[in-house]
Amino acid sequence: MVSHLDGGRDRINIAIDGPAGAGKSTVARNVAETLHYIYIDTGAMYRAVTYSALRSGISPGDSEQLGTHAESIDITLKPGPMGQIVLLNGADITRDIRSREVTMHVSQVAAVERVRLRLVTMQRLLAQSKGVVMDGRDIGSHVLPDAELKVFLTASVQERALRRFKELDGQDSITLSQLELEIAERDRKDQERDISPLVCAPDAIVLDSTSMTIDEVADNIVNLSRTKLAEAK
Ligand code: C5P
Repeated sequence: MVSHLDGGRDRINIAIDGPAGAGKSTVARNVAETLHYIYIDTGAMYRAVTYSALRSGISPGDSEQLGTHAESIDITLKPGPMGQIVLLNGADITRDIRSREVTMHVSQVAAVERVRLRLVTMQRLLAQSKGVVMDGRDIGSHVLPDAELKVFLTASVQERALRRFKELDGQDSITLSQLELEIAERDRKDQERDISPLVCAPDAIVLDSTSMTIDEVADNIVNLSRTKLAEAK
C-alpha cells in the first residue's frame, strides 16, 4: 500500500491488541498521526470479509465457503480524511462494516482458519516496511511477533459498553445492559477460539484505560515508542 523510502530504519512497528471497545482504534489512529506512521485496523478486514460473505448469502457457520470467499475478494485499506477507508472490490464499504449485523457475526467468521490465513498474509505485507501502528486481537502474539512495541489495551467491560453506548447516541434501540452482554460474548468468542485467540503477548505492556482519557493513553504509547525507537538504534 504505502512504502517507506528509507526501508524503515527510523521506524518501528507498534502492535495494539485488546478486547472489543477498549479504545484501540482511536488510540492507534492518534498514535499513527503523531508519529506519521500508517494506521492499520485489522478488525476492519475481518468485518469486510463478514460483510461481503453475508451479502453473498454465505452462512457465517459455513467455514468452507467462507474460506473460499475470503480468498476470492479484494480488500483494500487506504487513509481518508475521516480515518481509514475500506474498499471491497473497489467499492467503499467503510460504513457498512460497522452495522450491527456484521458486528454480531464477525467473531464467528474470524474463527475460520482460511479467513485468518488470508488476512494475516496481507497484514504482514503491510507491515514489512515498518512504521505501522496495527490494532487487533493477535497482532503482538501472532501477526507481528517481532513488533518493537506491543501494547495490550484493556478496560472493564462496563466502561467499554458505556463508551460504545455514548458513541451510538440513541441511533440504535439497544440498551446499555444488552451492549454489555454483546461485548462480553464477543470477548469470549475471541478468547476461546482455537486459532490465534485474543491473548496478551508475554512481552506486551498492559494499559488499563478504564480511568484514562484517549489522549492520555495515546501519549503514553507515543512516549513508549520513542523509548523503543532509541533502543532499536
Ligand atoms: O476491532 P473490531 O472490534 O472491529 O474487530 C471485529 C472482530 O474481528 C473482533 O471481535 C474479532 O472477532 C475479529 N478480529 C480478529 N483478529 C484481529 C482483529 C479483529 O479476530 N486481529
